[in-house]
Amino acid sequence: MTVSIVNHPDYVAQIGDDHRFPIKKFGELIKLLVKKNIATKNNTFTPNEVSVSTLLNVHSEEYINKINNLSLNEDEVRKLGFPLVRSVRRRSFVATGGTVLAAKLAIKNKLACNTAGGSHHAFYDQGNGYCVFNDVAVAAKFLKKKYLLRKILILDLDVHQGDGTAKIFQNDDTIFTASVHSKKNYPSKKQISNIDIELEDGIKDDEYLNILSKLIYKVNKYNFDYVFYIAGVDVHSEDRLGKLNISETGIRSRERLVINNFYKKKIPLCGVLGGGYNHNFHKLIELHSILHETCKNIIES
Ligand SMILES: [Zn+2]
Repeated sequence: MTVSIVNHPDYVAQIGDDHRFPIKKFGELIKLLVKKNIATKNNTFTPNEVSVSTLLNVHSEEYINKINNLSLNEDEVRKLGFPLVRSVRRRSFVATGGTVLAAKLAIKNKLACNTAGGSHHAFYDQGNGYCVFNDVAVAAKFLKKKYLLRKILILDLDVHQGDGTAKIFQNDDTIFTASVHSKKNYPSKKQISNIDIELEDGIKDDEYLNILSKLIYKVNKYNFDYVFYIAGVDVHSEDRLGKLNISETGIRSRERLVINNFYKKKIPLCGVLGGGYNHNFHKLIELHSILHETCKNIIES
């Protein structure tokens, strides 16, 4: 048995080579996963576009139509941060379908990862900060309905708060949101997750991992029966948008700590990419691959 990987070539949208979002990372990540023998033809799956009916569990019909018809207004496009072109529409539907597929695969296999996803700034009727649809929220609602799960954890370790996810589930006792993020960073208006841990600028590996160990200890008491893990690597010291001082070794330790904890308890875990905007593009791809590599190492050990 090995980790299941979900990937689609259309995760790479045409947003212009000079765009500050490193969209090409999705194409390069799968190449690296193949090169490292983490993604093979036997464990790699191609998603379909998420259906509108599945999206409707989380997003408004009006908003879904605006994305489908490419009809956001100027202000909405500015908040989104991407030009709303056909390939961005396509990417949003397949990446969300990808997280739904990975979520289902994790039920069978205990560990499955998308090579995109973690669009945690998307709200019920609004896209924000490079996030069109809240893929993890959509997949969580889908799983809850289909598999009658009792309590799902969304563990969000991206450097930015999972504000959209927190707001979507603010009145839902069955889906628990935990976000560990930089205090003085986007979004300026934070929402209320079930657990929020705010980090000071410049925090280093030891302190960060200590905070996470305590959080894991705390969440273990809830006996969750499923976990979504948003493994943003914008916590890295050389990230353009993060303000923390976490090393690559620190991120490797983080992934082992989180994934091993739930795997040992036989709790299915669906990993998604989250953010990453490293100054060094090759480093960025390597950092994103740690999620998939750690899952493979744990499941095969
Ligand atoms: Zn982020």
